[in-house]
Amino acid sequence: MKIVRVALAVPLMRFFDYLLPLDMAVDVGVRVQVPFGPQKRIGIVVALPEQSDLPVEQLKAVQAVLDEQSVFTPELWHLLNWAANYYQAPLGEVLLSALPTKLRNGESAVQKSKTLWNLTALGAQALQSGELKKAKKQQDALQALTISPLEKGNNEFGVAIWSALKAKQFIEEQEQIITPIHWQEALGELPVAKAENRLKLNQQQALALTKLLFQQGFAAFLLDGVTGSGKTEIYLQLIEETLKKGKQVLVLVPEIGLTPQTVQRFMARFNVPIDVLHSNVNDTQRLQAWQRARTAQSAVIIGTRSALFTPFSDLGLIVIDEEHDASFKQQDGWRYHARDLAVVYAKQLDIPVLMGSATPSLESLNNVQQGKYQAILLSKRAGQAQAVQSQLIDLKTQNMVNGLSVALLKKMEAHLQKGNQVLLFLNRRGFAPVLLCHECGWIATCSHCDKPLTYHQQQRVMRCHHCSSQRPIPRQCGDCGSTHLVTTGLGTEQLEQTLQERFPQYGIARIDRDSTARKGKLESYLSDIHQGKSQILIGTQMLAKGHHFPDVTLVALVNVDSSLFSVDFRAEERLAQLYVQVAGRAGRAEKQGEVVLQTHYPDHPLLQRLLHDGYAAFANETLKMRQTMGLPPFSSQALFKAQSRQSAEAEQSLSQIAEFFYQWKVAKNQPHLQILGVMPAPFAKKADQYRWQLLLQHSSRQILQHALRDFQHHSACNLDELRKNGKVRLNLDVDPQDLS
Ligand code: ADP
Ligand code: ZN
Ligand code: ZN
Repeated sequence: MKIVRVALAVPLMRFFDYLLPLDMAVDVGVRVQVPFGPQKRIGIVVALPEQSDLPVEQLKAVQAVLDEQSVFTPELWHLLNWAANYYQAPLGEVLLSALPTKLRNGESAVQKSKTLWNLTALGAQALQSGELKKAKKQQDALQALTISPLEKGNNEFGVAIWSALKAKQFIEEQEQIITPIHWQEALGELPVAKAENRLKLNQQQALALTKLLFQQGFAAFLLDGVTGSGKTEIYLQLIEETLKKGKQVLVLVPEIGLTPQTVQRFMARFNVPIDVLHSNVNDTQRLQAWQRARTAQSAVIIGTRSALFTPFSDLGLIVIDEEHDASFKQQDGWRYHARDLAVVYAKQLDIPVLMGSATPSLESLNNVQQGKYQAILLSKRAGQAQAVQSQLIDLKTQNMVNGLSVALLKKMEAHLQKGNQVLLFLNRRGFAPVLLCHECGWIATCSHCDKPLTYHQQQRVMRCHHCSSQRPIPRQCGDCGSTHLVTTGLGTEQLEQTLQERFPQYGIARIDRDSTARKGKLESYLSDIHQGKSQILIGTQMLAKGHHFPDVTLVALVNVDSSLFSVDFRAEERLAQLYVQVAGRAGRAEKQGEVVLQTHYPDHPLLQRLLHDGYAAFANETLKMRQTMGLPPFSSQALFKAQSRQSAEAEQSLSQIAEFFYQWKVAKNQPHLQILGVMPAPFAKKADQYRWQLLLQHSSRQILQHALRDFQHHSACNLDELRKNGKVRLNLDVDPQDLS
């Protein structure tokens, strides 16, 4: 019997050996079903070793081999192995998380056939005789089948209609063998793009495209262009040229950037098959997209973070829109950064990667300064749109109405009277973030997180935005018993209420996670906005990106002061990006746009620089500051996090890790490795878990990687060993984005 080494999706860095029965054959990359304790699991074969570390008698046998050949392309296999090593993640978790759920659960990886609805002779008769006249929908469905059979999963007519027709024996199921057709072949004589929808590039755009087209093989480009400068048009034209060469294209977009509008723009431009991958795509569609890309049936995949792991038969270009967006970093499981991995992947494939943003990350700007990325600048808005005017409102000098200054209210009035729309941005849902006792200052807090509960007036509940627990609104102070409880601070609900009273003649659309929780709600609000039924738009960051509102001429950031004094060194960068993104919602069409920002700190250097000199100047300044302080991107970080119901246990685990690195520093003569902590996380308690951190930092990525590898290979103190203490949850975040 042969031995196979299998990677499983378990939080352990090791592999598991099994025996392969003589009647089975496997290759590296193939899925196998194996016994694991009392369970069955699906794993990936990573090696066929001559010998096992365990005696053969102790090895169990593989139960089933699920694939004839690897489910990974050689390129993806290489990338995922690299990533597991770089992010110090178990290879099994990495490999399995890269597969669609259906494949993780053991479904077949090859599309063999699909089921179709076909018209029966009885059905044809029924149509002729007109006996279905009263059942209009059923008749329509039958009529459609006279043209061609329809796929069973097709929802055009609905499941109920089909089953009714089946019961009457008017239709029957038919299996159709699938032979993958290359997308180019399916295109036939059609061109890849619809030329009539192509825009004539302006001079800046044309120069940018020329530069991009000149590139052969790998290069990382940063398309640094103000909002509305026509970056998307450049993506589209570069994609067109790539498709003309017969190559496929991957487009990565942020989670909330994948709006129907975005997808529509791609669909409207190209004749080629396009698949979209985002959180609302179901498992079947996901598997199909996976199969279609791999067999070259589709030409373009547009998707969020994990679409990077789609297997392509011949990938020619990667585009990353809004490259600065935090959602490209995975925040649980194995914590990869899709943008960074995409660059590694492009290099490996020797193809170009194009990253676009109006507010590039400081990491990417630094990579430009280091000569690793090539910058392409678009400084002007394309088409008709003009630059927006911006202004600070000093709240210290203003009369206020529930968080809104009189100056802002006047501006709103002026814009609304002209028939334009107004957008108010406030990143806080609910009615008020705090409920407190007027007599003694007691605050209603979440007992699981020790943080204030948000007051939700509409749902009549106090809710914790950190652990989602909720409780009734208290009638009395928890300390002194007083019934005089008051809210403080401003949430979107309250803003809506205030504006309804102030501007009763205008429609208001409030868009946040609460108001759009029900399916279809978001779409209906957006359609109200586009039809002009709502003139006042209130939104959290859900509204900041990806949407085009041509009639919005005034954008207001209602409250940004909390971001000005954050402990997170990235907070200023995020605020600057948010400001520019939100401002970009104003005046996207022919109309002059205006942006106002309410603050108690109009002289804050960040705000001054941003408003007067723009994002680039802000970014330059901030980069210099990061360099002086030795912070990323001028150093690399790795963050160990521990959480437990017992605070001391979590701290203890991290202390052992810290001890390892103190010794390592001395042994390897690396005095510049910084070991920060063990310390409580800024967010020290969440959902009854106490959270601790240990941060490693070094100016050299290689040396930090070396330290982490030595730690993982250390026999007594590594993550596998420490995780044996089941009471503590430990994880490691390489290049952390979120230090909370
Ligand atoms: P970005 O992606 O940089 O925000 P878009 O590509 O969405 O910019 O373009 C902004 C607007 O300008 C869109 O309405 C687009 O149709 C228009 N536009 C882009 N390029 C041109 C061009 N060359 N000529 C005319 N209009 C353009
Ligand atoms: Zn009280
Ligand atoms: Zn909580």
